[in-house]
Amino acid sequence: MGKIQLLTDSLSNKIAAGEVVERPSSVVKELVENAIDAGSTSIEISLKEAGLSLIHVTDNGSGMDEEDASLAFFRHATSKISNERDLFRIRSLGFRGEALASIAAVSKIELWTSDGEEHSTKIILDGGNLVEKSVAPLRKGTDIQVAQLFFNTPARLKYVKTVQTELGHTIDLINRLSLCYPSIAFKLEHDGQSILRTSGSGDLLRVISDIYGMATAKKMNHFEGESADYKISGYASLPEVTRASKNYLTLFVNGRWVKNYAVTRAVIDAYHTFLPIERYPIVVMHIEGDPYLTDVNVHPAKSIIKLSKESDLTDLVRAVIRREIAGKMRAPEINEKP
Ligand code: ADP
Ligand code: MG
Repeated sequence: MGKIQLLTDSLSNKIAAGEVVERPSSVVKELVENAIDAGSTSIEISLKEAGLSLIHVTDNGSGMDEEDASLAFFRHATSKISNERDLFRIRSLGFRGEALASIAAVSKIELWTSDGEEHSTKIILDGGNLVEKSVAPLRKGTDIQVAQLFFNTPARLKYVKTVQTELGHTIDLINRLSLCYPSIAFKLEHDGQSILRTSGSGDLLRVISDIYGMATAKKMNHFEGESADYKISGYASLPEVTRASKNYLTLFVNGRWVKNYAVTRAVIDAYHTFLPIERYPIVVMHIEGDPYLTDVNVHPAKSIIKLSKESDLTDLVRAVIRREIAGKMRAPEINEKP
């Protein structure tokens, strides 16, 4: 007799959860990204104990009908891609169809969702096993509660840090998503206390003010520009407003937060000698390019992105930011043409 056996679904979901669901903020990320993909204009996130006891996300997006609600928790169940060609022109944040199955495997879930057509569907799962499926009153959108995260994986629970650290990760995440999607009204609450609220007005500068404060927002300059392949826009601080870390250089490519060394370098270069040593500007940059230039098909939790024609983009970034900053500074050192 051979020794190989196929793993059960429940076991393979638990293994996948080890990769996708590292900490409470990973769950929040997946749930909020699903809400964004569903076209929501309002997303409320409420946490208890930094999300370890409860993560509750409510959206006003497309919702799901009864059939989709039941399928959503299966591994590789997705409405976002259907063939190989789709894989190379991804516009949604999700596409692997893994998140809900993985989260469900390591928590207790209560989902309430409706596409606005008929009744809502309510589903309760415990460690990925169906406990209840029922009909609930109609309310368009999705409401999902993830309770007792890692209750059945004590080893993972041991790696979770303090409430303050875990909460910090989620605040960083929601700040970034707010800067990425100014047209969505985000609300983040922790143990009943409001942490962040954005208006969803579509005005990026207003979100910058909500997150970094009004005084900082007043020192931010708008920029935009385009090359053959890329379009950039956003806000960059005057050199008098700096921070000690590069973490305030926030980049988005096609609606996705990314880290990219070359673009970060180009921004810093553009400030040239205006920055004091070891100080960095505050920049929020939205980059748009054809999806075929940006390979998002990397590891689910990794935000480092591969870009084609990267030097075309870095030239654009350097020129646009330099023109903006130099224009405001009357700078003899900068003689390069924009
Ligand atoms: P993916 O996002 O990669 O498709 P998920 O496991 O995160 O995989 O979700 C599975 C499917 O469930 C999604 O493709 C989507 O159709 C549906 N879904 C999940 N969350 C929501 C939501 N908040 N609103 C509407 N549909 C949702
Ligand atoms: Mg998803």
